[in-house]
Amino acid sequence: MMKLRLATPGHLIDIDPLADELGYIRVERHAEDAGEELRIGAMTRHRDLLSSELLARRMAIFTDAERVIADPVVRNRGTIGGALCQADPSEDLSAVCAAVGARLVIRGLEAERVLEMHEFHLRPYETAVGPAEMLIEIRVPLQQHQGSAYEKVDRRAGDWAVAAAGASMRLAAGRIEHAGIALAAVGAGITSTEAEQLLVGERPSDELLARAARVAADHTRPVTDQRGSAEYKHHVAGVLVERALRRAMARALGEDAVPEERA
Ligand SMILES: Cc1cc2nc3c(=O)[nH]c(=O)nc-3n(C[C@H](O)[C@H](O)[C@H](O)COP(=O)(O)OP(=O)(O)OC[C@H]3O[C@@H](n4cnc5c(N)ncnc54)[C@H](O)[C@@H]3O)c2cc1C
Repeated sequence: MMKLRLATPGHLIDIDPLADELGYIRVERHAEDAGEELRIGAMTRHRDLLSSELLARRMAIFTDAERVIADPVVRNRGTIGGALCQADPSEDLSAVCAAVGARLVIRGLEAERVLEMHEFHLRPYETAVGPAEMLIEIRVPLQQHQGSAYEKVDRRAGDWAVAAAGASMRLAAGRIEHAGIALAAVGAGITSTEAEQLLVGERPSDELLARAARVAADHTRPVTDQRGSAEYKHHVAGVLVERALRRAMARALGEDAVPEERA
């Protein structure tokens, strides 16, 4: 935030010494039948998310997003916790976490609390993390027949998004049991509940995914700026949601190859 001149604090607390303790990606197995959960420490760096075999295999939306976030210099230092706490409406990992239904663990001096993404982000550049608290962990449910994907259009490689969309999907008996859709850089809320609800309980088809993408795009409120006109961003948002849904579905069916180039 300081590099972007968004913050000029009077005092700085260096949390880097916590990077070993809070830098991890692992699967937590719950007691019988309660399933598995992905746990990512808040100080896990972008480069470690990008190179994670576990994420590429089980939650490829992170791999997709990390391939298009910033450049190696930023990815070597920047953390998922810093990205989420910055709460920039163009932030890629916020859309990723919203699409997969992540829960965020905040620790204070006395206690811990666990928030949903919509409770965590209060408004642009403001989160629910209090003055004596830290985000320590990101938790994502892991299930069978689940797929996720992220699509982004930027002006230059590694730039902030013109528009971006993340999708996740879980299939059961040929129907969509759960769907998550989230967008970045196009205004309004991150998630698109109406589009998600349209999908749940239905058999996936090209027509259905296209309809859900149109609904999601119609809920965006993009503004015209140096990255493009509002009309252009609205159109791109719809195209990206549809692509993300198709890839999420293909991955849920085990048909989409996991990206191989991860540097
Ligand atoms: C040139 C450049 C290009 C970028 N391009 C992109 C892009 O294309 N897409 C994208 O999504 N992002 C992009 N970013 C942002 C990047 O992803 C960084 O990860 C993000 O800025 C966070 O960095 P950081 O971990 O150093 O956090 P910092 O910048 O140090 O922190 C950000 C804020 O969060 C607070 N904070 C940090 N960690 C915690 C914690 N654990 N608990 C509570 N509060 C915390 C800090 O106090 C600060 O207020 C870009 C950044 C730069 C500089």
